[in-house]
Formats: sequence, C-alpha cells, structure tokens
Amino acid sequence: MAQELKIWMNGRLVSPADAVLPVNSAAVFYATNVFEGLRAYWNEADGEVYCFRLGEHFARLRESMKMMRFTVPYTDMDLYEAVRDVLRGNEIHEDVHMHLVAYVAAPGLDSTSPTGLYINPRRRARITEGSGLKCCITSWQRTSDNAIPIRLKCGANYQNGRLATLQAKADGYDAPIFLNQQGTVAEGSGATFFMVRRGQLITPPITSDILESITRTTLIDAVAPALGMEVVERDIARTELYVADEAFFCGSGYEITPILSVDRFPLGDGGVGPITQRLLTAYMNVVRGTDRRFPEWRMPVYKPVTV
Ligand code: PMP
Repeated sequence: MAQELKIWMNGRLVSPADAVLPVNSAAVFYATNVFEGLRAYWNEADGEVYCFRLGEHFARLRESMKMMRFTVPYTDMDLYEAVRDVLRGNEIHEDVHMHLVAYVAAPGLDSTSPTGLYINPRRRARITEGSGLKCCITSWQRTSDNAIPIRLKCGANYQNGRLATLQAKADGYDAPIFLNQQGTVAEGSGATFFMVRRGQLITPPITSDILESITRTTLIDAVAPALGMEVVERDIARTELYVADEAFFCGSGYEITPILSVDRFPLGDGGVGPITQRLLTAYMNVVRGTDRRFPEWRMPVYKPVTV
C-alpha cells in the first residue's frame, strides 16, 4: 500500500493535492487550528482496525476549540463517522496515524468563522524499535499557561517544540525534555514524560505546563494498575532525571518510547528499562485489542458500532 492516502476534508474524500487552504486564511498564516493525533491499530485475529479512545480525543479537541473561541459544525457522531469514512475509503488494513485538524478558514487574527475540519491519515512507524532516545534538557522553556498554554493543542504551540527539537539535534541528541517556568520537568516536544526512581513510577502533574495526555491517563488509570504499579503525580526536579533508573516518553504518536540517557547521563544500565518494557508491552496489547479488556476504548472501523 504505497499510494498516497486520501484525506477527509469537510465531508469529502480528496487527494492530498486537492486538500488545500487559502494562503490568507488564519489557518495558514497564523496556524489558527487545533488538532488531535490519533492512532488506529490492525488486529489480525479480529480482521479489524481499532481506533484508540476517539471519544477522549474529541472531548479534548472541543476543549481546545473552546479556548480558541471557535467551533466546527460536526457532532461527535459526525466525527466518528468521518474517521471511519477516511479509513474505509483508503481500505486501511494496517496500523495508521491520523491528524484530525479543525481550523479557521477566514483571514484575520481574530476571525472565528468559517471553520473547517480535515482528517489526514498516514503510515507512521514506531519512534524507536527495541531501543530508545538520547535526550537533553533543552534551554528553551515550555511556554507557560498564561502565555501560550500547552493544554490547548493548537498547531502554533508546536513551534516551541520545533525550536527545542532542532537545537537538540544540532547538539547531537535525539529529542529535548522541557522544563517549565518554575524550573521543574514539563514534557517532551510532543509527548508526556515518565520516570522510574527507586521503584516508583513518577510523572509531572497536569498543572506543570503539559498537555493533558490521553496516553498518560491510560497508563495511570489502567495499564500501570493492571501491572500492580501506582503512578505518583508530582513535580520532578532536573537532577532527578540524571539519577533516574528509567524514563520514557508516552503519547498517541510516541506510544511508549524509552529514554536511554539525559544530558549524556545513562539511565540505569543505559538500555531499555524493565518497567518501561513491561508498560510498553501492556500498552500495545491494550491499544491493539490483543488484551481484550477496555473494549470501550477501541472503536472498530469495519464492524457496525453502537455508541
Ligand atoms: N504532550 C504534547 C505536547 C503532545 O503533542 C502530545 C501528543 N498529543 C502529548 C503530550 C501526548 O498526548 P496524548 O497521549 O494525548 O497523545
């Protein structure tokens, strides 16, 4: 399946060349959009593709739109059907990542309508396979809640991550870890941060200038407890990272991506940590549906659904 995938745009499936926006739209000029990154997984035994936690993604999209003071003319049911349409229309029978983007089509900084929405599916491999990332603490600061809030998932926010990622790569690292204005650990450029220290699984609180991650919630509420682990939500100081036993990023796109070192300090023995590996395996089983629990989180693309 090497051909380009069609994009769902305002009710129609179109080729990428036809999915265009005017250069003077707020969406193009100011990046006035909000979006969700979604993954859908192929389940061989069921002959089905499952989209993970769409309801939670739609709810967060609506919160982002609320803060941005615009809305789109689609109900959650419309959005469910649009996701199913784009995957069926492309005859997807494999793992796929999607960007679901709501945008302001009119020109002007303060325009709020007309708006539109597109869903752009693409093949996206795991970030690392059997290995992990060499990270640095970036000298760029996470934008604060009173400036450009990261809780709001808008395209423009990602320039903060772009600056840090390009600097990290120029300095020979794979990815940055942000501190917030208070100087405590926030998150990665597009992922939530977790670490393991003295057997405790720790992640920053949602007031630490991070996105309210759906994967984070999935780990805290379901995956970690199922493995007999509890997640501690608390501020994390920079130097705790240097002496951590394990760390990882998580997110819809990142899934669970091990971190091997921070500022060249190896974590643990410098390989993928055992707790990280257990969480990774358990998470992948839940999203793919090879672990049958939590069926309400997996929306089938081909079978009829009742929501
Ligand atoms: N933080 C940021 C800045 C992100 O872009 C993402 C990816 N959406 C995450 C965290 C992880 O969020 P989620 O688990 O909901 O994908």
